[in-house]
Amino acid sequence: MAERYDVLVIGAGPGGYVAAIRAAQLGMNVAVVEKRATLGGTCLNVGCIPSKALLDSSERYVEAKSHLDKHGIHIDGVRLDLAAMLSRKDRVVKGLTEGVAFLFKKNKITSYAGAGRLLGEGKVAVKSASADEIVLEGKHLLLATGSEPAGLPSLPFDGTTIVSSTEALAFDRVPQHLIVVGGGYIGLELGSVWNRLGAKVTVLEFLPRLMPLSDGEIAEMLGRSLSKQGLSIQLDTKVVAAGSQGGEIHVNAQHKGRDQLVVGDKVLVAVGRRPLTKGLGLSEIGVRCDEKSGRVLVNENFETNVKGIYAIGDLIDGPMLAHKAEDDGVACVERLAGMKTHVDYNTVPSVVYTWPEVASVGQTEEQLKAGGREYRVGRFPFAANPRARCMDESEGMVKILADARTDRVLGVHIIGPRASDLIAECVAVMEFSGSAEDIARICHAHPTLSEAVREAALAVDRRAIHV
Ligand code: FAD
Ligand code: NAD
Repeated sequence: MAERYDVLVIGAGPGGYVAAIRAAQLGMNVAVVEKRATLGGTCLNVGCIPSKALLDSSERYVEAKSHLDKHGIHIDGVRLDLAAMLSRKDRVVKGLTEGVAFLFKKNKITSYAGAGRLLGEGKVAVKSASADEIVLEGKHLLLATGSEPAGLPSLPFDGTTIVSSTEALAFDRVPQHLIVVGGGYIGLELGSVWNRLGAKVTVLEFLPRLMPLSDGEIAEMLGRSLSKQGLSIQLDTKVVAAGSQGGEIHVNAQHKGRDQLVVGDKVLVAVGRRPLTKGLGLSEIGVRCDEKSGRVLVNENFETNVKGIYAIGDLIDGPMLAHKAEDDGVACVERLAGMKTHVDYNTVPSVVYTWPEVASVGQTEEQLKAGGREYRVGRFPFAANPRARCMDESEGMVKILADARTDRVLGVHIIGPRASDLIAECVAVMEFSGSAEDIARICHAHPTLSEAVREAALAVDRRAIHV
């Protein structure tokens, strides 16, 4: 007899592992099937965590090399030990993935190593390289298989020269010239890492702007800042072909119709990710996916068109972000337990961990204009924030968009130091349907970066104090 679980999760990324833990907390008998050797999914193994570890290390390197002088701290002979930096990143990943295994044990979640495939009628086949296929049964099957890098036909991944983010997190030497195709999250974050470590970096972006879904004014400021740091950013540029010649890679592109040749030694293709459904058996049992995006279609309970089969995270609609996947996972299993949990994708914050960081929640100015919504804008520059001046990090601003009539906060966009932490307050206010006036009336500690958020809220009503 196959083992039968209340919830059987396929995929142990932030969606799947968090759903499993929450389901176990709710008293369900849970198992997780994962084909990777370690738990934690893309995020912990080859995504959020290793990229942030390298962003943090490379930030420190640049600080020691170029910024501490201004503070009166002179360090001679700063040098890069790339192998040590990569090992530290690997240790951070190891610690966190082992942490998930510990949490599984603690919550009595059974973990199966191998690739899962739906067989229909609550059954999942699990096949690992080292053992025969086994069949598991679940009352509820939860698909959390995430996403994979989307490639370009003109630049197929070869794993060494034309690579995805996975390989770009582990280059064993600093590239001389890294060509990055795509000016989105991955291109700008990993482009920043290798630029800081000494590579020449050229970003080729198809559209006339970076970060297409972010607020345009903020994206433009980010582009200017990254250019000052040494990244060469070419917008409106279409890559048409690439080929290797004498150890170099030649990328042919077109900029506004004009031919261009860019020569480098590594190419990072970062043009988005696509849902990972390969080998899952979806079409065999009739689970419906969106024809264009390939994402699994679900209803408000995260249930697919096949009863008892659910899907969450990068596999379904919404931003491909770890915290969104986690919230999907919690909401899905709480709904199985009869709770009415809901995830509002409009209040899912997003952060680009460049320096300065960019953090956003809610609607952009472009979206408000397109929707015909009347709004007011409050902006406050970090140059006028005392803490930012003390830190010598005065680049950037906070921008708050509020409804012109009700003053309700509709969107917040921050570019500047620790924007990733500052956005949390704005998310909370939006979750409570709060107004700019609410933020403006909250007492913020002095001197903190968060005072810039309050001042931007005051600026919505033209009463900022410090500008
Ligand atoms: P995943 O994390 O992709 O996990 C899915 C798991 O399912 C994987 O472990 C996979 O091996 C497994 N799997 C797939 N098919 C099968 C199968 N048939 N059987 C068994 N197991 C299977 N997001 C952020 O919010 N913040 C960040 O800073 C951030 N940085 C990122 C940096 C990079 C370089 C990348 C690539 C992504 C980053 N992301 C970030 C995005 C984030 O990693 C994803 O949104 C998140 O991991 C999605 O979680 P998930 O659980 O849906 O899927
Ligand atoms: P992305 O969607 O963020 O950016 C892709 C960029 O590539 C876009 O600007 C797009 O216009 C451009 N592009 C598309 N086709 C192109 C072409 N042919 N030539 C040149 N440019 C082209 O995708 P990504 O950077 O690959 O990241 C994938 C996803 O992973 C993100 O959307 C995000 O959901 C997640 N992620 C999040 C974080 C974070 O939260 N900090 C970090 C990394 C990745």
